[in-house]
Amino acid sequence: MDNKHFMNESNDFAIIWNETLNQIRSELDEQEFNTWFNLEFQSANEKEFTISVPSLFYLDQVKKRYQTYIEGKIEELIGKQVALNLVIKPKTEQKDNIPSEISEPVKKPVSETTTKTEPIRKEKHSQLRNDYSFDTFVVDPNNSFPANAAQAIARNPGTAYNPFLIYGGVGLGKTHLMQAIGNYIHNHSDSKVFYVAAETFTNEFIASIKDSERVKTAFKNKYRFADILLIDDIHFLQNKGGTQEELFYTFNALYDANKQMVFTCDRPVSDLKDFNERLRSRVGRGLNVDLQPPNYETRCAILKKKAEASGINIPDDVIDLVGKNISTNVRDLESALNTLTAYARLAGKPVTLEIAQQRLKDVFASPRQSNISIEIIQRVTAEKFHLSLNDLKGKKRTQSIVYPRQLAMFVCREITEYTTTEIGQHFGGRDHTTVMHSCQKIEDLVRTDPSVDSIIKSLIRDIKDYSLK
Ligand code: ADP
Ligand code: MG
Repeated sequence: MDNKHFMNESNDFAIIWNETLNQIRSELDEQEFNTWFNLEFQSANEKEFTISVPSLFYLDQVKKRYQTYIEGKIEELIGKQVALNLVIKPKTEQKDNIPSEISEPVKKPVSETTTKTEPIRKEKHSQLRNDYSFDTFVVDPNNSFPANAAQAIARNPGTAYNPFLIYGGVGLGKTHLMQAIGNYIHNHSDSKVFYVAAETFTNEFIASIKDSERVKTAFKNKYRFADILLIDDIHFLQNKGGTQEELFYTFNALYDANKQMVFTCDRPVSDLKDFNERLRSRVGRGLNVDLQPPNYETRCAILKKKAEASGINIPDDVIDLVGKNISTNVRDLESALNTLTAYARLAGKPVTLEIAQQRLKDVFASPRQSNISIEIIQRVTAEKFHLSLNDLKGKKRTQSIVYPRQLAMFVCREITEYTTTEIGQHFGGRDHTTVMHSCQKIEDLVRTDPSVDSIIKSLIRDIKDYSLK
């Protein structure tokens, strides 16, 4: 690939960096991405990308965990080896994990040119993504109810639908819709909008209980003084009794004060395991809506909209090809599109049907595109090994059960998009480290015993056949 013509301007490097981040975002778990990819492009030349991190702690961690990975991603994009040079540049907006006190939103000094009476806030919310708005959310018959409900709540928070729960599988737009509510309210009022991933909420809670009274109170107050509280992925709170209880008190405080709460979850609350009953019933009493995977027309509409936003022309036959072949979720659609727009930018050539077919053939062939659920994998594995589903998911440790169980976990990790945490939850609430350990066991076995590989292959075939029935 001839890269010369686009390697001249720093702007092009910034674009490459953005593409790199886009691709990484599509590969990593959202939480992981948000935690570690707080990285800002500074400058670049043909040999080196200089990227800033907010602190020395980040510098160490990003170096250790991601330096080679990021360099590899850039190389994939531009076909050249580059070094990643990390520098520290503190962000002014950066917030500490545990706030020492409750502060009002910082008011920017009003410059002479802006009018004081302007009712709409112009500063971006520091925890919300700007592009997660109602405008960018494509509505189809499948998701019009959740989308309309979300808009109604954004216009009139804390009234009719409190709390609001959006549930559904990965990559279907839960976070987008929730943040759209947050952005709308943030932009149209001076309400204090708090967005937090359930995982962060948990970590902050755990850190606070080990700390001084002041920190404990700060944590409690932080959330109880919110006007709008958005908590993402509450299924993460399963098995975390202490955190659930804390959320229960926060819930009550906010509910009594008519403050809007919005939650997302990967399943209906009734299916949450090890979940505080009072919290479950309170959340369940609000408006609970589910997001469904988009149908073919909507997939094309989403692709068109995102292609337009990227500024790259993607012809209709390519949109059609991607829309037909990727049916899992919107995140996968986006990532396929990113591959194509990156190609167009970097190669400086238009995206044709042939190019799209060639660039995306691995993605299209991926077993992830078949919407296989953990339940199906468990059912087929149990059947194959003549076990009951309960035994497969349960606690028994006899070898005749442990091995199929490990196999099933391994296959889940291989052919679905579920995280190890989610897989663990489906296997009787096991910890993600147990899932990782099981996968490792199977990998070791494959290395020493070639028959295991064919067992896995045949199991995967059976699972696919089953899921096509
Ligand atoms: P979830 O939280 O359900 O896993 P996200 O909200 O992160 O999913 O959505 C994944 C990606 O797909 C995001 O980039 C989001 O903007 C996009 N997306 C999802 N649904 C839609 C939609 N209906 N219209 C436009 N973009 C969407
Ligand atoms: Mg999400």
